[in-house]
Amino acid sequence: MKYFKDFLNSIPHKFKADEEAVIQRAYEFAQKAHHGQKRKSGEDYFIHGREAAIILGQLFPDVPTLAATLLHDVPEDTTVTLENITELFGEEIARLIDGVTQLGHVRMKNSKDKFYVENLRKLFIATSQDIRVILIKLSDRMHNMRTIEFIPPEKQIKVAKETLEIYAPIAGRLGIGNWKDELEDLSFKIVFPKEYASTKELLDKELESREEGNKDMQKNLTHILRTEGIKFQDVTGRVKRLYSLFRKLEKYEGDITKIHDFIALRIITKSTSDCYAALGVIHKHFQPVPGRIKDFIANPKPNGYQSIHTTVFGSNGKTFEIQIRTDLMHEEAERGVAAHWFYAEEGKPESAGRLQAKWIKELQSWQEETTNPDEFLESLKIDFFRDRIFVFTPKGDIKDLPQGSSVIDFAFAVHTDLGYHMMGAKINGKMRSIYDQLENEDVVEIIKTKKEAVISRDWLKAAKTHSARNKIRHYLTEHDSGILQRIKELKLKDFTLPKFFRKK
Ligand code: MN
Repeated sequence: MKYFKDFLNSIPHKFKADEEAVIQRAYEFAQKAHHGQKRKSGEDYFIHGREAAIILGQLFPDVPTLAATLLHDVPEDTTVTLENITELFGEEIARLIDGVTQLGHVRMKNSKDKFYVENLRKLFIATSQDIRVILIKLSDRMHNMRTIEFIPPEKQIKVAKETLEIYAPIAGRLGIGNWKDELEDLSFKIVFPKEYASTKELLDKELESREEGNKDMQKNLTHILRTEGIKFQDVTGRVKRLYSLFRKLEKYEGDITKIHDFIALRIITKSTSDCYAALGVIHKHFQPVPGRIKDFIANPKPNGYQSIHTTVFGSNGKTFEIQIRTDLMHEEAERGVAAHWFYAEEGKPESAGRLQAKWIKELQSWQEETTNPDEFLESLKIDFFRDRIFVFTPKGDIKDLPQGSSVIDFAFAVHTDLGYHMMGAKINGKMRSIYDQLENEDVVEIIKTKKEAVISRDWLKAAKTHSARNKIRHYLTEHDSGILQRIKELKLKDFTLPKFFRKK
């Protein structure tokens, strides 16, 4: 009981009694269901759900989402079924858990397809029709990354790579800066250990040499803002994150003189007009570096980030980046889409529906943002998932197909040879016809023959994708010409037959 209270206290939100009861029920149920199971670290398995829920709770203490996070591994890893969960906790929580389980089947593989990573991200989004599913999955991954040292090294690399390529960008896309930064740095250390060490050394050295200058600048700024009568809450220092420093160094080919924001000073104000007033005062006292003023308040970044950035020469001749934003903008930069939950009117959290609407908007801007023309074409093809289904191989790879695709389309999408040797299929474990249409998230296993399958014109009727249709047509022409060939041979035999008889 004390343990549960500790859990609740670690979430910065005041729950009503009936809400607390739901959370406690989920907490105790998950604890019991996982009883006796251990993590690789030797800890009780339940600790994982508990920690993931604490991570989620810092950002988005929504009751059904918290309960679902506590329970997220129960249907997959215990004898409790999703039906049991539905009966005990209702549709909403069960649906969230089901979404998380589905996402768990999505795996990275070493695909050479250049759209693979992009498609995987899209699949993620399409699969989790409810944005809360992604928030749970990100909390789950965060805890797994924080405890990654307990799994074998090869697996660590796989998980960390996936985190770097899929999970961190999604957190970034949702504007959750906190999560993106932490996921990136945890993965960076494992995927690029050498680069991590050298970047860290560089940053530590810079911080040491700049420490004093920074303190002075911070004091100076505070004093100037105060005497000029600017309303502000705080001037703090923020240190650049390692992975983002590494990426920036890569961009400037290692030239550290191009990096102005090892440490940035952050001024938090109450209102937008105070941000501009502060900027004016700063430029009055410190010479700005030309071309370094960025107004992300007037022109927010695509993920919603707002702030004014400027770089100035300090009294010691060194440059300082200064970021000016309101407290609300600051919250949004750290919490992204989930920030509104805290700032909705009259203390009422934003409804799941509104959050979802915002999410859809994010997705659209993601689509619009693709600059590479190839990528743009590809995203048009995907047509915002509306007409697409995502189907899994038994190993968890995904195939992205147009709606109405059949088993035949799937088999050819996996491998041409698989198409040519297919005789049947299991969909979600049940025997089905190869002509059957597939649905989103079906798991399809193709049953092969040793010999080439006999492909009929019926296949063409059931195939929807260009690629499958072309391959079937190719087969049919080849096959037809084969028949023609045999007919010719037969005719030849017919022709020689009399000769044969003659010989006799
Ligand atoms: Mn988990």
